[in-house]
Amino acid sequence: MHSSQPGASKAAGTLHVVATPIGNLGDLSARALQTLKTVDAICAEDTRHTRQLLSHFGLERPLIALHEHNEDAQAAQLVVRLLAGESFALVSDAGTPLVSDPGFRLVRAARAAGLRVSPVPGACAAIAALSVAGIPSDRFAFEGFLPAKASARRERLSRLAGETRTLIFYESAHRIEESLDDLVAALGEARRGVIARELTKLFETVLDGPLAELRARVGADPNQRKGEFVVIVEGAGEDADAAIIEGRRLYAKLAEHLKPSQAAKLAAELSGAPRKALYNSEG
Ligand code: SAM
Repeated sequence: MHSSQPGASKAAGTLHVVATPIGNLGDLSARALQTLKTVDAICAEDTRHTRQLLSHFGLERPLIALHEHNEDAQAAQLVVRLLAGESFALVSDAGTPLVSDPGFRLVRAARAAGLRVSPVPGACAAIAALSVAGIPSDRFAFEGFLPAKASARRERLSRLAGETRTLIFYESAHRIEESLDDLVAALGEARRGVIARELTKLFETVLDGPLAELRARVGADPNQRKGEFVVIVEGAGEDADAAIIEGRRLYAKLAEHLKPSQAAKLAAELSGAPRKALYNSEG
């Protein structure tokens, strides 16, 4: 029924937003398979990748490349075809489209045209990680990927130091160590975290503990630096000392320009937080 979206004509097609596995192909749902089988074409982030997924399930459908560089132009054409009655599935390389993946422009354009946009839910790395983290999950903030540039990353983290919701980050193998260093500096060594790596795959591991300990474990074991990561960090306690939060924010900023010990001294003076809570001189 299209009644909730009155602009859609009876003959118009549907855009199905279909989640695909994040590793284990057994996680493709029966409904996802049925949808992929019956649509006129599948819009895919990487058509080669999706062709492999389809061939695993013995499917062959026309594929349309839809990625961040062509999404605006493709969206306009796809909306015309949807209005004319074709139906499409939108998939990304892994997990749920639009979650740190392309698709929101197409979905927005389809909705603006009054078309039916319907989800076929399934795997999402952030939610899968949260479900096994054992960290409060009633309120959380999904932060996606941290900025690649160190200064922008530290700035982002310093703004998050006082966030009381659980924080969820995506991270890649080549930046996991730097990001953990910055998480420790901005949020403190003792803040609890979880590193969920290679979920649903052969080398799935879920590490938990204080951030400084997690950093050390990843540093000590090259295997723990391989693959795909979700990093989950417990939010700042509601009763957390505001001075410590402010001190850590200042420290993260000052440490970009000063020696760590000088930055800690100044941040402690300015915020009133104990220096030890901002910086561990033993490294
Ligand atoms: N749309 C996807 C989803 O629903 O999770 C996320 C796409 S994003 C481009 C890819 C990132 O998701 C990876 O760099 C990693 O941080 C995370 N990720 C994807 N698969 C994962 C897995 N099996 N285990 C851990 N993290 C994963």
